[in-house]
Amino acid sequence: GDIGALALVDAILDSRPPDDVRDVVRSLFVRDLVDVTVSGCGYGDFLLWTGLSVTPLDPMLFDHVSQYPDREEEQQHGRWAVNEEGDALSGDVLAARYDFTLLMLVRAWCRPWTPRSNPSFSGHFRRAISALALCAHRYGVPADIAVMVNSYLPREWWPDDRRQCWCHDCQLKNVSDVIREKVARRERRDAEAREEATTAGAQPAAR
Ligand SMILES: [Zn+2]
Repeated sequence: GDIGALALVDAILDSRPPDDVRDVVRSLFVRDLVDVTVSGCGYGDFLLWTGLSVTPLDPMLFDHVSQYPDREEEQQHGRWAVNEEGDALSGDVLAARYDFTLLMLVRAWCRPWTPRSNPSFSGHFRRAISALALCAHRYGVPADIAVMVNSYLPREWWPDDRRQCWCHDCQLKNVSDVIREKVARRERRDAEAREEATTAGAQPAAR
């Protein structure tokens, strides 16, 4: 009964989905194919509940329609957000509350470098940090001083290659590019495997 269903939900939420699942779910949201009143969860909920990374670099997080229902009655009835007193929020109040959480996310994201926040920095930035760490080690600079120096490096010094255009056309193109690239990669791998199998099959005859 209910316990079985809860265990199932727990099992699903406890296991972080593979990248393929993430990309498919994201593309469904980008293509407006998800009715959040049916799914019962928005795009941001999906990321958070499944333990996927949440970053302000993903334009989909800023799209209110992908997070909660459009109609106020549904927002109220589904209790998509509640205030500190436990009252359901809707309309402008819900939109403002959601934007505030995004603002907090952006603020947290923009904080100076620490070993813990390292993954939020661009690949170029992280390479610079490891080069600096090696230099500091070479010259015997204490680790806490190296960490302090790193915290003064502005994020903007190394452009973030994860940035993408926010317009809907580019988002759609991006989503289909990702899927197409995966299909091409898989076809290439299958062709290679077939070729290997043929060569392996031909060898015993040659011996
Ligand atoms: Zn664009």
